[in-house]
Amino acid sequence: MNEAAPGDYSTLIEEIKSCTLCPLSEGRTNAVPGEGNPLASIMFIGEAPGFNEDRQGRPFVGAAGGVLDNMLATIGLGRYDVYIGNMLKCRPPDNRDPKPSEMDTCRPYLDRQIDLIDPKVIVTLGRHSFGKFFPGEAIGKSRGRPRRWRGRTVFPVYHPAATLHNPRLRPVLEEDFRKLPGLIDDHAPQEVDKQPAPPVVHLGRSFETATPQPAPATSPETGPVVDQPLQGGLF
Ligand code: SF4
Repeated sequence: MNEAAPGDYSTLIEEIKSCTLCPLSEGRTNAVPGEGNPLASIMFIGEAPGFNEDRQGRPFVGAAGGVLDNMLATIGLGRYDVYIGNMLKCRPPDNRDPKPSEMDTCRPYLDRQIDLIDPKVIVTLGRHSFGKFFPGEAIGKSRGRPRRWRGRTVFPVYHPAATLHNPRLRPVLEEDFRKLPGLIDDHAPQEVDKQPAPPVVHLGRSFETATPQPAPATSPETGPVVDQPLQGGLF
């Protein structure tokens, strides 16, 4: 994120709020640009706003948002430690699946958010956002396996709403969230000297929070990194 980024970020958010580029603008109450720490190292990307999100103009504030908040809490994070956004910024009617044309039209906003926020780890929530990065791959086979994408880690997990429809997926989602601190730590700077240092999880470039249980890149907890090995010193 460069020095001009805060202004760029605000400009982008205002653009999204007033966007009329696709027909979804006609039925929305509010566009939902996203929220959280714009300096975060971890960014969550869902599918599209639902009823509650449309009413409040905020992402993940309904039942699925409660699940996401709970998952974050299990690893010691709150929603303002991370950034939370969606593929689509406006609610599709009756929560139907996004149309390809809508995704294409809205995609540049998400691309700009990723450029500005510059997260090291992108967590895709559900199949639609995973499909942005790895089109045609099944979420059921890919979830919980970190991938490399343009210098970042993309980590696919089930959408929190899926656990509301199928409670058996909840422990699966919890298991995947437990891998996140290790993924963030994979981007920690290399130690300059050889002195042992307390483990640190980097939550954003503006602040750090000590966490006692980082997982090494190759531990069973983190699991294998797919496509390319993660590189250190990128944070
Ligand atoms: S969904 Fe995206 S492209 Fe369509 S009106 Fe909303 S912000 Fe604009």
